Amino acid sequence: MLAMVLREVGGPLVPEERPDPEPGPGEVRIRVEACAVCRTDLYVIDGDLPQAVYPIVPGHEVVGTVEAVGKGLRAPLPGARVCVP
Ligand SMILES: [Zn+2]
Repeated sequence: MLAMVLREVGGPLVPEERPDPEPGPGEVRIRVEACAVCRTDLYVIDGDLPQAVYPIVPGHEVVGTVEAVGKGLRAPLPGARVCVP
């Protein structure tokens, strides 16, 4: 997968190839089609969120398609279009 990585406070977003993560129990892997930037992401970029650990991939509000499902989930199924607010 292609991730846009913030390596340090105030730095540029750098494209980086990473292996597709495997979903753990109760998790899904989503093929992201669109990602919003919210105020929390700007806090991370500006270094105003003390609990942020760098490098970090900003962006936690996404729309996409479920690709893989971890153990213990019956929904959503792979192929479902989902939104994470
Ligand atoms: Zn947010």
